[in-house]
Amino acid sequence: MCEPASGPGITRLGYSALERKAHEIFQSYMAGLGLEVSTDAAGNSIAELPGQDPSLPAIGTGSHLDSVPNGGAFDGIAGVVAAMEVARTLSTASQPPRHPIRFVAFAAEEGARFGQACTGSRIISGLTKARDLPALLDQDGISVAQAMAALGIDPLAVEKAQWNPDDWAGFIELHIEQGSVLTDAGMPIGVVDLISGSTRIKIEIKGRASHTGGTPMHLRADALAAASEIVLAAESLANDPGHHGTRITVGKMDVFPGSITTIPGECQLHIDVRDTDPARQRVSTSELISRAYDIASSRKTEINVEILADASPVILPIAIRNAITTSAASQGIEYRVMPSGASHDTQMINHVCPSGMIFVPSQNHGVSHSPDELTTYSDLAVGIDLLTVSLRELDSSLNTQNSH
Ligand SMILES: [Zn+2]
Repeated sequence: MCEPASGPGITRLGYSALERKAHEIFQSYMAGLGLEVSTDAAGNSIAELPGQDPSLPAIGTGSHLDSVPNGGAFDGIAGVVAAMEVARTLSTASQPPRHPIRFVAFAAEEGARFGQACTGSRIISGLTKARDLPALLDQDGISVAQAMAALGIDPLAVEKAQWNPDDWAGFIELHIEQGSVLTDAGMPIGVVDLISGSTRIKIEIKGRASHTGGTPMHLRADALAAASEIVLAAESLANDPGHHGTRITVGKMDVFPGSITTIPGECQLHIDVRDTDPARQRVSTSELISRAYDIASSRKTEINVEILADASPVILPIAIRNAITTSAASQGIEYRVMPSGASHDTQMINHVCPSGMIFVPSQNHGVSHSPDELTTYSDLAVGIDLLTVSLRELDSSLNTQNSH
């Protein structure tokens, strides 16, 4: 998984050499603008444009530079490029901002490699600690701690990256929508009010591996057959009107021993439960787990359920949302206030300071985490203009030393 891209699309995984290379490009561009650039103890990159009043807390913007395997060219990087463009505009403006402005490229936002999403921003927010890192493993058994160490990041020192709420006034992330709400509505901008929660579970099903020819059908304990029923149960649960709004996906299934002449003795499922309602998110998850136990026992298999991650939905604060919508109105830019089905670094950063998000449209029916992911440069330009004006709006409207 740590090797450079193979197959179509972009493969730039969290805490890989390629991700570090992208951070270097970000840092050298920002240093070229005269900003003060640093890598924090968790591998996040931060570039600071000084404000007129150094005693004021900072306003931030940015996104992530890692991708899923065989992903698209816009998820995350659009928001980092937006930050670079805003930095270029603000650093050459005749009137410097009052607050320091910090431009951030977060490390390891995607959960694809280690199971946990937003690792860089979770460390910043104090939600992930050094002691958590050895247990987060990729498919080759390499932990976040080991991957960090291989890149020269000390996994025991990551908590030094934690942000102090007194030092931050607000944060806005620009991101591609990763859905088709905006293109379907012909709307150039989404302003996010709510980010879905996500519960990730791993289910291991243990049956009995034996010969496909020698074992009669009625004596089998087929782990894959049980797993398949669980996959369909997950889908029907999410389709049940009683769980309307829940999205459940089994995105990964591993079968052992994986031989055409052996009845599968073991199967592992990775399941992602998303919801905008925290109570329904947990109810749907526990109902899915109880159905999985029933299916496993009816098929004479054993199961083990592990909760890999459990993040609640986040309602983003109205003050930042208002700064964005006011700015959009002042620029004559149409927008739609909408929830985000995907999780984002902003969800974590909102634990430190009031945060908001600007969505730009995703073409090709909103496809994302795929090489077909596409946002047009003209749509991105509208988003970057709005981000610039919104940050200026925050810079002039935030009066207190610490607005948290
Ligand atoms: Zn992203």
